[in-house]
Amino acid sequence: MNYDDNNIFAKILRGEIPCKKVYEDEFVLSFYDVNPRKKIHVLVIPKGKFVNLDHFNKNASDKEIVGLIKGITLVANKLGISFDKGEGYRTLSNIGLNGGQEVPHLHFHLFGGEKAGRMIG
Ligand code: AMP
Repeated sequence: MNYDDNNIFAKILRGEIPCKKVYEDEFVLSFYDVNPRKKIHVLVIPKGKFVNLDHFNKNASDKEIVGLIKGITLVANKLGISFDKGEGYRTLSNIGLNGGQEVPHLHFHLFGGEKAGRMIG
């Protein structure tokens, strides 16, 4: 699977395009979605060059996988929407054509601050 170095999240990771940062560590970057679908809508992305979740699980190190999964809860805690510190949220990742993925760099959406609604709209 070829990774496109010119995708918009790659540019954000390189600092070529600004983002409204929520959280960053060795493994992940989190920032607000430019087109929020809920009161709180942020993205969590791995720092490595991964196209989608399947590509990630096949090629990422165990440390990177743990770093991303834990990163989601770190971000939710920071935003006050986690199960422990808030009222919960929805996370999802679109994968490929049928998933409706637009940006070919793995990302998890986090929707919070209000009820997420129907699973599939
Ligand atoms: P997906 O359909 O899962 O690939 O979602 C891509 C998401 O990236 C959409 O929700 C877009 O609104 C969001 N997005 C696109 N460009 C940017 C950007 N420069 N900064 C933040 N979010 C973005």
